Amino acid sequence: MTDVIVRTPLVEVTDLRTWFPIRKGLFSRVVGHVKAVDGVSFTVDAGEVLGVVGESGCGKTTTGRSILRLIEPTSGSVKFDGQELVGLPRRDLQPLRRQMQIVFQDPYSSLNPRMSIGTALTEALTVHGLARGRQATHDRVEELLTLVGLSPSHAARYPHEFSGGQRQRIGVARALAVSPRLIVADEPVSALDVSIQAQIVNLLRDLQRRLHLTYIFVAHDLSVVEHISDRVAVMYLGRIVELAPSRALYRSPMHPYTVALLSAIPIPDPDRRRSRIVLGGDVPSPSNPPAGCRFHPRCYMAQAICRTDDPPLREVAPGHLSACHFAEQAMAMAPGKDGEATGWEETGRLGGTEP
Ligand code: SF4
Repeated sequence: MTDVIVRTPLVEVTDLRTWFPIRKGLFSRVVGHVKAVDGVSFTVDAGEVLGVVGESGCGKTTTGRSILRLIEPTSGSVKFDGQELVGLPRRDLQPLRRQMQIVFQDPYSSLNPRMSIGTALTEALTVHGLARGRQATHDRVEELLTLVGLSPSHAARYPHEFSGGQRQRIGVARALAVSPRLIVADEPVSALDVSIQAQIVNLLRDLQRRLHLTYIFVAHDLSVVEHISDRVAVMYLGRIVELAPSRALYRSPMHPYTVALLSAIPIPDPDRRRSRIVLGGDVPSPSNPPAGCRFHPRCYMAQAICRTDDPPLREVAPGHLSACHFAEQAMAMAPGKDGEATGWEETGRLGGTEP
């Protein structure tokens, strides 16, 4: 008999919206909203890594923070292990906080410069009632530092004595201190040198496997999440435009925006070239998104229907969702995994169409 692996969603996000009011005038009247997250739905299974990718302002960071309720969602549902978080009173949310942690892009700004690393980790344990006696706490701090590749002797040092990569390791140690089940990694390597980025991504991947963690890994670059993600969600202007298993998304992207993002990833071979798709125009304002498909003012495949009809996120292949009227054609334009000649090799530089 074959074993059937049943995967349970640890996180279920349904129609999540996080809007920020725009106020004007003497009485701060609300004159509009910045729709940072505007109807996002996905699930993350226990032990899964979901990469969330998009340009600045696409809503990826706000999505991660709204899930943890570090930013209050405007509407929608976020369930953690079956429990609704949106609208949950603060006192009921507090016990769940331990199970959901965040790793910030810039750990330095979240570390107290006057507190040694050992004290900072002890504080994290104390706040959550996990400091069990002096020796046990000391041992746990040493264990955490070792777990993230630092030396126990680093406990006595202060944040300014560490490099960027080491500080990010401390950020990871602090998140792990409370033995969470979910970690939202909010652009954890964006501020680091390229040479250090891979080390931190590898560390996060090893820890995820060893500790059976669940990650929502936010990044602005598809190449960063490729080797750590089981599935990848691509966001544009507050919405998910493509969601697929990692391998399928990189090999057969089904949204023109994903195709363009992939074209920006350099091939590590000087003898091979890939034509980059340079999107025309700027990202429109999230307070006034374009009608029809939000991507149409910049899309090199836009047709008349794209200006009027908003494409739903639909399943184009098993587990592969795309919000494009022409998802199948977008795939035909995509590069092969190794950058073989494809439709977009011929297409070359492409600008956006007029709105
Ligand atoms: Fe481009 Fe149209 Fe697809 Fe939108 S629906 S991504 S405008 S082809």
